[in-house]
Amino acid sequence: MARKPTFDYDLIVIGSGAGGSPAASIAAAAGKRVAVVEADMFGGESPNWGDVPVKALLHAAQLYDEARHGTRFGLRSATLGYNFMSLKSWKDKAVKRTGAGNNKSYYEKQGIDTYNSPAHFISPHEISINRRHLSSKQFLIATGSYWKNPLIAGLDTIAFYTPRTILDSIRLPKSLLIIGGGSSAVEFAQLFAILGTKVYITEKAARILPDQDSESGELIARLLAEDKGVSVLTQTRILSVQKDGLSKRVVVSRAGTEKSIRVDEILVTTGRTPTVDIGLENASVAYTPNGIEVDEYLQTSAQHIFAAGDVLGSKKYLHTALTESRIAAHNLLNKQRVKPDYNAIPNITFTYPGIASVGLTEDDCLKRDLDIKKSIAPLNMIARSNTSDYRDGFVKIIADKRGVIIGSTIVAPHAGEMIHELTIAVKHQMTAAEIAATPHAYLSWSEAIRVAASRLT
Ligand SMILES: Cc1cc2nc3c(=O)[nH]c(=O)nc-3n(C[C@H](O)[C@H](O)[C@H](O)COP(=O)(O)OP(=O)(O)OC[C@H]3O[C@@H](n4cnc5c(N)ncnc54)[C@H](O)[C@@H]3O)c2cc1C
Repeated sequence: MARKPTFDYDLIVIGSGAGGSPAASIAAAAGKRVAVVEADMFGGESPNWGDVPVKALLHAAQLYDEARHGTRFGLRSATLGYNFMSLKSWKDKAVKRTGAGNNKSYYEKQGIDTYNSPAHFISPHEISINRRHLSSKQFLIATGSYWKNPLIAGLDTIAFYTPRTILDSIRLPKSLLIIGGGSSAVEFAQLFAILGTKVYITEKAARILPDQDSESGELIARLLAEDKGVSVLTQTRILSVQKDGLSKRVVVSRAGTEKSIRVDEILVTTGRTPTVDIGLENASVAYTPNGIEVDEYLQTSAQHIFAAGDVLGSKKYLHTALTESRIAAHNLLNKQRVKPDYNAIPNITFTYPGIASVGLTEDDCLKRDLDIKKSIAPLNMIARSNTSDYRDGFVKIIADKRGVIIGSTIVAPHAGEMIHELTIAVKHQMTAAEIAATPHAYLSWSEAIRVAASRLT
């Protein structure tokens, strides 16, 4: 009788971010022999240099900004100030408190072996790490994504920042040009503008936040420009960049006109690319430059290899990566398989006001030729707007012709919290009438959700 092949591990997880970490823990708790291989810092992007540090700094900056504008509430704020290095210390403290950043022992305490080296497949069941070979019965690939430099003339001749590196800067730039107008770009634009940097944000589409409902990009562009002095340059292509003494000169083309802008620093936020250069051919795992191809159960073209997180190239959110990791672990361990549900994934931009959305945008509905109804409730019509002296923002709800909520966008001070009510509505196919008939507490921002829903009934 042929002997079963023996492997070093039951499961090797490649990448220790949100796409890898939960699966490793679940498999270890189920009694499997598990290893996690990490090329860089354990914990991946989110705790080390992504979501957590950026949000910690944004919180401090937004608090500072609110306090500076407190005179209208009778507050005295003339002596308010900040120290850049102290702000960074706060950020480091917040990162440390997550316990997930650069934390190998987190895995070791669970009986999971760790290897700090890049993994490369050399055969379907074998990887090489640092001149050593490890074999496993199954694999989960969760290698995330990285910044691939966009093709811009001169970019390879100058020093520039990405979201990964900019928080390491020791001085606040006097001026900053941000390439790209997505969520990350908008967050950094607000953060640096509050701290006193002259910010330019450039986006080739007709509005910033081009993937979201048009009202949010238009409103946030106006607020960035009017309140924070940010130059929002849409329909703008970067033609070239070059060194100019201690500064950088950026040549842009906007509506057919060339313009040259001199700035201290450049932040490139475009070009996130899935990390697929890990010898996938040797393991017969199908992929494209847009990510690893998986079926609806997150299984790759190789039966014993699953993938999760940003390496799939689709939705790039931490909560999506976590969900996929748990589902991949379930499917690796069980015959009865489950599928991730991508219908109701909330998306938040952590500016002030916050921007949050779930489900389909109006553009999505147009592309699918869906028959929809929509309503918008401006924030300034609810009582909380008066007591907070805050007037910009809205709740938008999109419903199908039966009144079932299929999408929503909120721009409001607590949009990131408010969106979860509509996330439940989208996930469980609730109607606008059901939301409108639910009591919403007086003087909460969420009253605007009830108003928007009632306009659809
Ligand atoms: C600035 C910023 C802010 C963000 N803010 C938010 C937010 O507020 N909310 C939100 O939901 N999402 C946010 N995101 C996105 C979120 O961080 C990602 O979606 C999430 O971290 C992806 O997890 P992942 O495990 O797929 O990838 P990662 O966390 O990138 O983990 C992949 C890991 O694999 C490792 N790796 C790569 N190649 C190899 C190899 N060959 N061998 C071994 N290891 C390898 C990498 O070193 C890395 O540690 C933000 C992203 C950025 C950049």
